[in-house]
Amino acid sequence: MDQKIRGIFCDLLGEEKVLTEEPMSRHTTFRIGGPADYFLIPDTWEEIRAILKICDAQGIPFFILGNGSNLLVSDRGFSGAVIQLYRNMGELRVEGTRITASCGALLSAISAAARNASLTGLEFAGGIPGTLGGAVVMNAGAYGGEMKDVLTRVKVMTREGEILDLPACDLEMGYRTSIIKKAGYLVLEAEMELKEGDPEEIRRVMKDLMEQRSSKQPLEYPSAGSTFKRPEGYFAGKLIMDCGLRGHRVGGAQVSEKHCGFVINTGDATAEDVRRLMEYVSERVQKEFGVSLEPEIKFLGEF
Ligand SMILES: Cc1cc2nc3c(=O)[nH]c(=O)nc-3n(C[C@H](O)[C@H](O)[C@H](O)COP(=O)(O)OP(=O)(O)OC[C@H]3O[C@@H](n4cnc5c(N)ncnc54)[C@H](O)[C@@H]3O)c2cc1C
Repeated sequence: MDQKIRGIFCDLLGEEKVLTEEPMSRHTTFRIGGPADYFLIPDTWEEIRAILKICDAQGIPFFILGNGSNLLVSDRGFSGAVIQLYRNMGELRVEGTRITASCGALLSAISAAARNASLTGLEFAGGIPGTLGGAVVMNAGAYGGEMKDVLTRVKVMTREGEILDLPACDLEMGYRTSIIKKAGYLVLEAEMELKEGDPEEIRRVMKDLMEQRSSKQPLEYPSAGSTFKRPEGYFAGKLIMDCGLRGHRVGGAQVSEKHCGFVINTGDATAEDVRRLMEYVSERVQKEFGVSLEPEIKFLGEF
């Protein structure tokens, strides 16, 4: 961390929006991760653009963080600037059947707003603990629904600070991917089109999906959700279970006994524990079933 660069960020954002040596374990649902050199909390698009400019001029790598619910940060942390787009950018508004939300709005808040307005189409997202930005980038989905089913436009910022307004047909959304991910754009805001629905039915479906989650997923432990993507024609959790790896541990990291598709932090797991466990699980699944597992969670920092 360089005091001069800290000063430049403080001049831009104010001292309280610039943290240094910030433990990333405080900002990830895995509760794992070493310090980020700079942890920045911008309030406006202009501030984001200015941060990108400073990073470029000073040669500082940057990383966009939402709620950290799909993320494994190295024990050594991140040498660069983490730009958090979360509560600081969490506005949302409902107009007729359309919801427009800022990147930091939580999916749970957006689907609750849809439910309160008797709009159907976002029930699937109620239990996904991420921000809109994180969900749009990787086309988050659950229980047969995906972000691509509801998105109509997304405003993004390029890494050079240009703002683009992308219609749904240009988003190239697929299984856990999008043009936004491929191009490294920053999601600023998105528009979703829903349908009028029966409020009782919407409520019932959301409650039912939440119950399915809490009965099947290890929500009582820190994790980053499904550790691996779904390999075509298989379920990662079932393959892992069939290898006899239910409950398998490396240090404090464990293949969840409740759902083998989740690696959990039993309390004192390090990022290295999680990485080694994922590597071991992948090797075993490859050996026993000839299927290669691809991580769904993102890695940040040096491993
Ligand atoms: C218990 C649990 C259950 C889960 N269930 C599901 C599920 O059912 N379905 C599912 O799809 N996922 C699920 N997840 C994973 C996770 O919640 C989603 O992937 C979510 O969309 C990640 O959002 P986030 O804000 O936490 O992103 P982060 O983890 O903060 O970041 C993830 C990636 O998105 C990028 N990113 C974040 N915000 C932006 C932005 N504004 N612009 C550009 N890039 C951005 C980051 O740079 C990073 O590459 C689950 C996770 C947990 C812990």
